[in-house]
Amino acid sequence: MATDRSVITGGTVLLSGEAVARPADLILEGDSIAAIVPPGTAIDAQPIDAANRLIIPGLINAHTHGHGGLGKGVGDRWSLELLLNAGPWVNGNRTAADRYLSTLLSAVEMLRKGCTACYDLSAMLPVPTVDSLHSVAQAYSDVGIRAVVAPMIADRSFYQAIPGLLDAFPPELRALAETMRTASAEAILAPIGDAAAAWPWPRDRIRLGIAPTIPLHCSDDFMIACRDMAARFDMPLQTHLAESPVQRTAAQRRYGSTLTAHLQQLGMLGPGFSGAHAIWIDDAEIDLLARHGGTLAHNPGSNLRLGNGIADMRRAIGGGVTVGVGTDGSSSADNQNMFEAMRLAAFVSRVFDRAPADWIGAAEALRMATEGSAAVLGMADRIGRIAPGYKADLTFLDLDHVNLVPLNNAAQQLVNAEDGTAVRDVMVGGRFVLRDGALPGLDWPRIVGRAREAAARLTTANAAAREAAERLAPVVDHFCLGLGRCAYDLPRKLSVEAGPDA
Ligand SMILES: [Zn+2]
Repeated sequence: MATDRSVITGGTVLLSGEAVARPADLILEGDSIAAIVPPGTAIDAQPIDAANRLIIPGLINAHTHGHGGLGKGVGDRWSLELLLNAGPWVNGNRTAADRYLSTLLSAVEMLRKGCTACYDLSAMLPVPTVDSLHSVAQAYSDVGIRAVVAPMIADRSFYQAIPGLLDAFPPELRALAETMRTASAEAILAPIGDAAAAWPWPRDRIRLGIAPTIPLHCSDDFMIACRDMAARFDMPLQTHLAESPVQRTAAQRRYGSTLTAHLQQLGMLGPGFSGAHAIWIDDAEIDLLARHGGTLAHNPGSNLRLGNGIADMRRAIGGGVTVGVGTDGSSSADNQNMFEAMRLAAFVSRVFDRAPADWIGAAEALRMATEGSAAVLGMADRIGRIAPGYKADLTFLDLDHVNLVPLNNAAQQLVNAEDGTAVRDVMVGGRFVLRDGALPGLDWPRIVGRAREAAARLTTANAAAREAAERLAPVVDHFCLGLGRCAYDLPRKLSVEAGPDA
């Protein structure tokens, strides 16, 4: 018997493109699916019993932030801009060990809720280091899920990014806001290049990406440097694209165009480009994304939580853009539950004035959260489907769990009823990383202790930064509320004359 050959027997499998699950056995070779065969087919392979299990492709989180793992529940009635204002204290003073721990918490939550891969935009203040990048990658390696690890970077502070915001502060607060500066572009980018030049993990397991965080927070030269580094090292690039009405209005003021048109002018768009959120984009922007092969990460939970609005993903999909689904980070979402993200993706599509046939249905939401997200990660040819040649990244749910009893329609129950509590086992690359609800190889009580210790220490270390942010918050809130409201007055189809393609 070939030692790297196994067969998953007795399971009920939800195959790609099918809404109804059916009995099937899966033959695995090494880390991949070799064949799908009728149940009970005699195979010379190590058997893996999956009786009473519903087997689905592992869910893929197209946009999250591992740094949020230590930041659950830090804010409540926060707009995106209030969250960004709080960033220095929410994410400040972290060691490489804290980054490891925070990422580990997010990764464990994703795994427990059936997710096998993610795109992590990881904040690394004040500058990324090779150690920090490795510590984040190590967390994913230890938990056992795949990841794109993309340092989230900028060469402008939040206060510099929003035109007019600094001028809105009284002198004393303006001076305070002006003390918050980023490091130089060179200091930020050099360590990423160093890490990319000698990346020690297999790229199909843990891949380095790059995330110029929000276009307004990055000078054009900085964006271009990120673009060039992505091209040089074949890294995917993701940015928060038109996440809030503030960003849409601010882009008009700074660039005289939409964000996507500006990115297109900078040569940022292409198959390796993905935009997260994309609530405030228009038809011309969708067309630009589609023509360049860019993808979008839809984060409906975060969009609702931060009051940013509802992204019309039917419009984007109809315009030819591939869309994945994400949770966003735990300091803005706050959980890492891809079942919830799928459900919200389906439900929020129904608030627009369209016939039910044009709503995002359960099967489509599931496809977005698997095949669509795989495309965002740049791994569409390897993960996101149960099909021969694809990696054996599988989530096993208990068919006796109340969420799935009786099983009338697998796709509809996964999206409309399941909350992750029926997940029992998760396999990544043919190896169980969650087995009967347990995490082999992780010392969970020790992780819990370290997380509590880190949270207490960081609360003290960031107390002054928190106080500063709280002093700045009322002006940020008032100014951005006004600026954001301007977006509602802008015509839905903004001109893209500034772009050469217009
Ligand atoms: Zn985000």
